[in-house]
Formats: sequence, C-alpha cells, structure tokens
Amino acid sequence: MSSADVTVVVVGSCMTDLVSQAPRLPKAGETVHGHKFFIGFGGKGANQCVQASRLGAKTAMVCKLGQDVFGNNYLQNFKDQGVTTDFVSQTGEAATGAASIIVNDQGENAIVIVAGANLLLDVEDLKKASLAISTARVLVCQLEITPAVSLQALKMARNSGVRTIFNPAPAAAELDPEFYSSSDVFCCNESEAELLTGFEVTDEEMAGKAAVVLLSRGCHSVIVTLGVKGCLMVSVQDATPKHIPVGSVPAVDTTGAGDSFVGALAFFMAHVPDLPLEEMARRSNQIAAVSVQAAGTQTSYPSRDALPHELF
Ligand code: ADP
Repeated sequence: MSSADVTVVVVGSCMTDLVSQAPRLPKAGETVHGHKFFIGFGGKGANQCVQASRLGAKTAMVCKLGQDVFGNNYLQNFKDQGVTTDFVSQTGEAATGAASIIVNDQGENAIVIVAGANLLLDVEDLKKASLAISTARVLVCQLEITPAVSLQALKMARNSGVRTIFNPAPAAAELDPEFYSSSDVFCCNESEAELLTGFEVTDEEMAGKAAVVLLSRGCHSVIVTLGVKGCLMVSVQDATPKHIPVGSVPAVDTTGAGDSFVGALAFFMAHVPDLPLEEMARRSNQIAAVSVQAAGTQTSYPSRDALPHELF
C-alpha cells in the first residue's frame, strides 16, 4: 500500500504495557511476589490506529519509537496489523514509551508512564508525512505526544479539507483554544469533559451540558463517551444533546474501550462518510462494547470478520 492510498492517519503515541498481577500493590521500598506478567501493545494513538485497521481502514501511524527491543517489536506489531509504517521512526535519544502497570487482586492498579520517544515526535516528522496527512480522509490526534505537534497535525489536515477527530486524552485542564476550532469531532470521556468544563459530569444531563460548552468553543461536533451508558453527542446543526445508548454486555476488561470507540469512529468517517454522525456513534458504541468483553487492550479489539455485516 502506498501512502497515497491511506484513508486514516493517526498522529500519536505508542506505549509498551508491562503488566504485573500481584496480590497487592507494594509499599515504598517493598518487594511483592506477583503471579502473572505480560507485555501488551498500548498507547492511545496506536490503539486507535489498530482498531481502525482491524475494521478495514487503510491506516498510517505517525509516531516515534526508541531504538530498542520494545521499539522493534512495536514496529513489527504495526506491520502485523496492516498499518503503514512509512512514518514510524526510531530514535536513539529516548526509550520507547512504556507503562509499568501493577494490578492487585481487587483490580486496582498503580501505573507509571514514561512517554520517552513519544515526546520527541516533532513538526519535522509531520512534514515527512505531509502528503499522507493532506490526502487522507480522516486524521486522528490525542494528547500523549507534545500537544503543539498534535495541534499542528490537526491544522495541516484541516487546511487540506481532511476531517479531524481530536481525543483530548489523557485529560488536561487547559487546552489551546485552537484545538476546538481544529476538531470536526471532539471526542472525550466523562472525566475529560469534567476537567475541561469544570462541571461534575455525574450523569447524562451533566454530560450534555458539558458537551454544549465544549461545542461553543468552536468544534463542529462533540461526542462524550459514557462507559456502560454509551455516548452522547451534539453538533452545530443540532445542539440538543442526543444520548446514544449501548446494549448490555458482560464486561471483562474495559481498558482501551475509549480508543476502540475513537478508532471505529475514524473508520466510519473515512469509509461511510455520508452516514449521519449519530449512526456512526451508535455503531462505534457496538464495536467498543465488543472490546470490553475480552481481556487486554489491542488484543480485545474486534476485526471486521468478527462483527455483524449490518455494521458495515
Ligand atoms: P474510556 O475508555 O476513555 O474511559 P468509556 O469508558 O467512556 O471510555 O468507554 C468508551 C466506549 O466503550 C463507550 O462509549 C461504550 O461504547 C463502550 N463501553 C465502555 N464500557 C462498556 C460496558 N461496560 N458495556 C458496554 N459498552 C461499554
């Protein structure tokens, strides 16, 4: 696949998840024996890209890895998932982003994230990907890389008429106002909506109020994901909050559900662009609901073959 065929470009992060399961979280200075260890591929940008790819989008990832074993493995993971790696670079100046995660028997966790190479992705890297960014159908960004680089990518896409999805995650209290005006779809979860608006987003009504405030800051549409309750949307055409519920499923592990939702939304915006956004959100709910029924992050994301035909 050449870069000119790419439909979805994700500019964002890659993290290697190093997960230890232990009876309890250690205190400072303490060593605890765990009972299980596994390594997973994570990072919000990469998760979203892999979900879009599994649904059949022609994806490209723009990201930076370290010149280390985790970086080499991540590069191979992208290739295995059918993601174009022309704009995945490796640096000797920092390690591949890593999340050291300890989960106790109650399901609580303690996490240390070292963004490492992710923070070295810069505007020069965007320039190298400029043809793919300007000819894609959809560009997706988050906040796990340097925010100015995300914003620049959104602006490059917008200037070329490419539709943009901005996922303001991890949550930040302050955002450059241009993030709103550069977002076709501003897609956040409840805690991000809460931090950005100062509202306590405890129910659908408050989520709707927060969404209207976010919309007023200049984006075209806002989607707030609500976990087990699905999501809610507003747009400039209709600023009345519309709740889009999700069916009840036996949830096993909700890690990365928001990224599954965003990746699915990117797929629908790129490949079924005439569908109303409300219907895209309803279908993205269904796909993210499948992801919560299996353990892990990218490992839990469904591919097109495993989903009902009506979704496509
Ligand atoms: P995040 O992972 O960012 O916290 P959410 O928890 O809001 O995001 O979940 C994102 C989407 O995943 C929801 O909008 C919904 O579609 C789906 N989802 C999450 N949890 C469940 C659940 N328990 N049952 C069904 N769908 C879920």
